[in-house]
Amino acid sequence: MLDKLYNCTYPKPDILSDETPHYCSQNKDGTWEYYLHYEDYDRRLDEWVPSDRVGEEVVKQRTNDDHRSSLDSVQKMTRTQKRKFDEINTTLPGDVDPTTAALEHEREQATKVKNIQEIEMGMYEMDTWYYSPYPEEFSKCSKLYLCEFCLKYFRKAKTLDRHKAKCEWRHPPGDEIYRDGNISMFEVDGKKAKIYCQSLCLLSKLFLDHKTLYYDVDPFYFYVMTEVDSRGCHVVGYFSKEKESPDDHNLACIMVLPPHQRKRYGRFLISFSYELSKREGKVGTPERPLSDLGLLSYRSYWKSVLLDVLSKRRGNLSVKDISQMTAFKPDDIITTLQSMGLIKYWKGQHLISVSPKVIEEHLSKQAKDHLAFDETKLNWIPPQKESSAKKTR
Ligand SMILES: [Zn+2]
Repeated sequence: MLDKLYNCTYPKPDILSDETPHYCSQNKDGTWEYYLHYEDYDRRLDEWVPSDRVGEEVVKQRTNDDHRSSLDSVQKMTRTQKRKFDEINTTLPGDVDPTTAALEHEREQATKVKNIQEIEMGMYEMDTWYYSPYPEEFSKCSKLYLCEFCLKYFRKAKTLDRHKAKCEWRHPPGDEIYRDGNISMFEVDGKKAKIYCQSLCLLSKLFLDHKTLYYDVDPFYFYVMTEVDSRGCHVVGYFSKEKESPDDHNLACIMVLPPHQRKRYGRFLISFSYELSKREGKVGTPERPLSDLGLLSYRSYWKSVLLDVLSKRRGNLSVKDISQMTAFKPDDIITTLQSMGLIKYWKGQHLISVSPKVIEEHLSKQAKDHLAFDETKLNWIPPQKESSAKKTR
């Protein structure tokens, strides 16, 4: 599809100047399409536009300029474009040093153009958001067909149909560790179910900009969330977690598929990651940096949990106490309380200062309708503990 890059001969709409890098592609019927990236906007809004709509789209974006670059703009923009999303997060480890920045630039160049535009999976068709490095023979398809159970991908609907007739999978390849109503969570070991986990990473990259892990899945567990019905367990999202993290990371990457966003599943996955940390007797924090949407989700999650803890407290609580109760890393507690104006630094110590009125005010602003995690429904022993228990048996 991208054989024709810019600097080739093609009818260029007046609105695109020579300085604006753009890609174009000729359709079979001889018409042209242009790949538009809107400066300062997230790349999830990139799109292929037919030549007669290029002017229209560019003008539409320019009139939105007031909202540029702020997090609000991401929300307003996507709302106006009827893109549904709720929460998402990415992974790019470490601070941004020059090498990382150079790699990041390289990545941006290499992934500038979204290859696969659309996927069909189970009963859903989804527009994709970003480039994903599917093997070459698939990366040139504008639409991919996925088996919703084993996540194998196909270029043609017919091939998928043939596969479905013989595919026996009805749930992710791992242990079911949580079931509440129609929600079920599976723990999948990247080492034992390599192909499945790689397919899951490729799928999630279509909806995550910065994800860097695709093929080396061995060092991770994948916690896959499904909705269960009589036909099986249908994947709605997941998060991955390093088996060993020296930096206390309890979540590497989180993704909720677009048709299931707005159901607060991202929040459920975040709370799930902390519940696992509690069982391990550790504190945890997500890998940094977080994407714009990931940061929003985490901030709102941390806030609501901390408010809940503070509203139920009896007597004084230190940051350390709260960390033990929530499995949040102390830094995350401090920055969240700071953002709410509930903490003071005095004589070398952090003091939490809240009045019941302040808590009430904050709580009244919180959204209440979320799928709550139920501790009694988690059937899970931390894998390390489990293997050492087996050894001593
Ligand atoms: Zn299958």
